[in-house]
Amino acid sequence: MDAHGRTLDYLRLSITDRCNERCLYCMPEGYHGWRSRPDHLTREEIVRVARTAARLGFRKFRLTGGEPLVRADVVDIARDLASLPGVSCVALSTNGLRLAELAAPLRAAGLRTVNISLDALNPELYRRITGGSLARVLAGIRAAVACGFECIKLNCVLMRGVNEQEIWPLTLFAAEHGLPLRLIELMPITSTEVLDERHFLPVAAAMRLLQQHDDLIPVPEARLGWGPARYYRLRHTGALVGFIGALTTPHFCDQCNKMRLTADGKIRPCLGDHGELDLRALLRRGASDAELEQLLQEAMARKPLAHSFRQGFTPCRPMTAIGG
Ligand code: SAM
Ligand code: SF4
Repeated sequence: MDAHGRTLDYLRLSITDRCNERCLYCMPEGYHGWRSRPDHLTREEIVRVARTAARLGFRKFRLTGGEPLVRADVVDIARDLASLPGVSCVALSTNGLRLAELAAPLRAAGLRTVNISLDALNPELYRRITGGSLARVLAGIRAAVACGFECIKLNCVLMRGVNEQEIWPLTLFAAEHGLPLRLIELMPITSTEVLDERHFLPVAAAMRLLQQHDDLIPVPEARLGWGPARYYRLRHTGALVGFIGALTTPHFCDQCNKMRLTADGKIRPCLGDHGELDLRALLRRGASDAELEQLLQEAMARKPLAHSFRQGFTPCRPMTAIGG
């Protein structure tokens, strides 16, 4: 429980700040601020943090980054986390580029659910937004579906004038494959040219755009994966679409249940607040389990009531370093 009565049971673990893409909204152009390898938490350190968090009531852990699948020991980390007492779900967020080869070993290791970023279905536009290959991502999605994960969601970041024309094709694709699609408002995390008002597309505008094609029926009971999305079923296509309006949804943070561990071992209670506590320093000076628990509890107590994105938030660490 945090100071505002919210149950915190979900920890997102950034296992690397490296990435094999460079999305317009995530990584500043020409970014070279990577942490050196020794700055990253080791597999053992990550698992120790997760074990401590599980003792405090955290039940769900998500591997993220940067791109978690570029880390060589990602399957071992997933297996270690899945076997911890009290853990009910180990999940992954990925750009999908390496999923074709890693989906099966990750599933066998105990990974249960996967979120795959997919901002466009037009290969040239996909490359312009991310720098990556759409064909490889689609192969990754097919592999994940074939492995029988409990839930696979597609994530699209909304950018006016960049990918709004992709929203309907993405919805049809999601319906065809029976995968939920989440449309995410651009957050001012990283300073790149795309993060200004001209490119901001509120979820309400995306909803209006979908309503030109189909009827949206609210599905208030759908809370897939413990997240903040509000879901709608499209009457004719059958697609399930979730809207994540971090900037425009009133009371967006009221139900927030998560904290983040950065790749360099800081505990960050809120994505949209710069406060962080240094867990790595404790780990590396041989702290006891009780000391680790105390620091995690302090982070939980410091979790702000709401993010500060609307209060002149200045981007500081890029999303790749924090773990989206
Ligand atoms: N590399 C993986 C991926 O792309 O899914 C995991 C890390 S990424 C930082 C996690 C999520 O954050 C992705 O769904 C990505 O689209 C989202 N994201 C990154 N920057 C964002 C921004 N400025 N606003 C909204 N979402 C963002
Ligand atoms: Fe990499 Fe994911 Fe950020 Fe894109 S959103 S640059 S894939 S970490």
